[in-house]
Amino acid sequence: MTDRRNLIRGAVAGAGLVLASAGRSLAQFSSPPHAVRPVRLQKPCVVSTWDFGVAANLAAWEVLSKGGRALDAVEAGARVPEADLSNHSVGRAGYPDRDGHVTLDASIMDETGGCGAVAGLEHIAHPISVARRVMERTPHVLLVGDGALQFAIEQGFAPEELLTPESRAAWEEWRKSSKYQPRANSEVGDYGAQKGDRRDRPGSANNHDTIGILAMDANGDLSGACTTSGMAWKLRGRVGDSPIIGAGLYVDNAVGAATSTGVGEEVIRNVGSFLVVELMRQGRSPQAACEEAVARIVRRKPQARDLQVGFLALSKSGETGAFAIQSGFNYALCDAASQKQLLGANSVYQA
Ligand code: ASP
Repeated sequence: MTDRRNLIRGAVAGAGLVLASAGRSLAQFSSPPHAVRPVRLQKPCVVSTWDFGVAANLAAWEVLSKGGRALDAVEAGARVPEADLSNHSVGRAGYPDRDGHVTLDASIMDETGGCGAVAGLEHIAHPISVARRVMERTPHVLLVGDGALQFAIEQGFAPEELLTPESRAAWEEWRKSSKYQPRANSEVGDYGAQKGDRRDRPGSANNHDTIGILAMDANGDLSGACTTSGMAWKLRGRVGDSPIIGAGLYVDNAVGAATSTGVGEEVIRNVGSFLVVELMRQGRSPQAACEEAVARIVRRKPQARDLQVGFLALSKSGETGAFAIQSGFNYALCDAASQKQLLGANSVYQA
């Protein structure tokens, strides 16, 4: 697969437009030029990762269009894929760890810098709402494992079996080989970025995704949320980037917000979402900031070209940006002008 990839600079995944290709080695790699004009949204607005972000944005829009708070919007949006039984990378029906346990990670951050998160949470379908309770009702930021479950139950969340027959069947199929290997969305035959197909349908190549959702309300206040079942077949106890504030999610109400999807270990190593927001603070556009955050991962670890990581950012002025290691990462945009936009992100490499 790697052999077939060309290093490209600014390919529009959805449109299949390759602006420049081939010939550059990784050693020569630097931030790609800003080939695509990023979209600027009007407040209120919301952006989120992947094609399932379209439905999430619509739920967030219900809140935002009535003058609601960005925090309520991102929670409402994140709950949509968490409840979607056809989505095997978030919430209920998420693929389990190698031992068959569905363990969920989530984080949320508001306009005041308040944040809450849960990691390795089992049996609760809406970890994003538990993360919000951690933020609002405890002096802590992150609860994990049994403690997070105990807290959720104390808060009135009903425990349930999250492993559906379909996810169990996929896990049992995986156990025949028991080979752990993150698979990016962009592998051959996986999905059509513009068709809205599920990348994570059983039998498809992909085995991880996250919804990261960022909103700005009519007051101009920003919030973000991030929720996932993590990497399918992960080691028991593995925690990804999504519940780590600064890695999978970061919001600074003066500057902007960022979130990530993909192999969380690479995002944690580079404190990815915080990096994107800090670069925006220093004057980079959301697009340029996402590009630099991806470039840093690839520069530090050339093997990352075989993985997928994508960043999505929204600035205080409504400008958006997105960039990924590989093609296939898409993201949904929504404001008063258009509620169902789905765009393909530029990437360093094209499969
Ligand atoms: N970032 C998630 C994790 O590492 C997975 C993904 O977004 O694909 O748990």
